[in-house]
Amino acid sequence: MSEVKDSESKASEVIESDATSYETMDVAIIGAGIAGSGLAKALADRGRKVLLIDRKAFPRHKVCGEFLSPESIGILSDLGFAPAIRTLGPAEIRATRIHAFGSAPLRIPLPGVAWGLSRHALDEALHREARLAGAEIATGTTVVSMRREADGYALNIVRGGRTHVVRARAVVGAWGGGGRVPDMTGEERKNKHPGSPYLGVKMHFAGVEVADEVELYFFEGGYLGLSPAGNGIANAAAMLDRRAIRNAPTAVHEWLALARSRSPALDRRLTGARPVPGTQAAVAPVRLYAKPVPWDGIPLIGDACATIPPLCGDGMSMALRAAQLCATSAERYLCGALSLSEWEEDFARAIHGAFSGPLRWGNLLQRAAGRPLPARIALTAARCMPALGRRLVRATRLGPTPQV
Ligand SMILES: Cc1cc2nc3c(=O)[nH]c(=O)nc-3n(C[C@H](O)[C@H](O)[C@H](O)COP(=O)(O)OP(=O)(O)OC[C@H]3O[C@@H](n4cnc5c(N)ncnc54)[C@H](O)[C@@H]3O)c2cc1C
Repeated sequence: MSEVKDSESKASEVIESDATSYETMDVAIIGAGIAGSGLAKALADRGRKVLLIDRKAFPRHKVCGEFLSPESIGILSDLGFAPAIRTLGPAEIRATRIHAFGSAPLRIPLPGVAWGLSRHALDEALHREARLAGAEIATGTTVVSMRREADGYALNIVRGGRTHVVRARAVVGAWGGGGRVPDMTGEERKNKHPGSPYLGVKMHFAGVEVADEVELYFFEGGYLGLSPAGNGIANAAAMLDRRAIRNAPTAVHEWLALARSRSPALDRRLTGARPVPGTQAAVAPVRLYAKPVPWDGIPLIGDACATIPPLCGDGMSMALRAAQLCATSAERYLCGALSLSEWEEDFARAIHGAFSGPLRWGNLLQRAAGRPLPARIALTAARCMPALGRRLVRATRLGPTPQV
């Protein structure tokens, strides 16, 4: 089976941070995506000394539908990011339009306004705001291993080919869903979650007008979301199941061509669309979780803790909610109100309470979406009973922000 190249893991080792050495931090966060940036700002806002570390150089393009659900916007507001993001001119999205296996399209209004914005711009804005709050950010920096010490952790980080040691009272894993993760025994190790047949690809397009909807195209072997990404650009992001694809391609444009060949509606939609150079990205494998994994020696947030099927469009809101929950419990640990084991218990309870329901329903939808008959039945049922469609969508969403 041919492998898609994980373009997200190939960023150059550019060092963007000026920092060369760190005094002992309150918290080191491994991974500066949505979850890590959210947590860094939340803890820096509380006056904590935070170091946010990422192996990539930013800004960078990232595999994502770039659909910020109404829940995501709510949490971004709670965390104080929304005004800065608004200045980037996100597109407003009001409905989902579903095209599945040749059925007539079905439009489902969203429970509120969502935003479409490229991760290239979004993640950079989150970094800027986290820095303004006082967090230090080291990009082009990989955490290769860590060990527990009497009063915290020592992390071995590699930047520009040189190894440094960073000490922190607490460490949080926000390293996303795949790849190699730092081990407590001093080694780098593979993500221990089971393998997955899924991969994700994305690319921006010009010359295709996407109004205020996210369009979802389901076909044999996967689905693709087409959404406005701001500034007149459309983002196409696909999740593909390698089990349903013989002679799997390797390049992003070939995977997108394969999606078009399996969905005539998508093919018509992208006629005349022009790829925007340099925006393509791929990630493999994409692991979907049946249950959250909130703790593995240290607290985990974002996709490292729970990855919901992308068709729910809720991965970023879950990443941000996990950051919010972690900030609250980390603060209680840092000020001595909780022991480490009490922190684990407290955080795990909060995560299971928030994510178990959406993960269960999201996985059910993912199974139905991959097969023509269940997908057609679900669409017919939702068309005849619009309330059922809305309920199903609601079941995959997060509940309201907990009072913290
Ligand atoms: C095809 C597809 C479409 C999607 N569409 C949507 C959508 O429309 N809406 C939505 O809400 N969600 C969507 N998602 C999900 C969403 O992208 C993720 O849930 C979200 O990016 C998770 O954020 P995160 O911060 O946990 O991880 P990431 O954003 O992946 O960040 C993790 C970071 O950790 C860094 N890292 C990893 N290991 C190390 C290390 N050892 N040292 C230092 N740094 C490290 C990585 O470089 C990376 O930058 C989609 C996902 C896929 C696959």
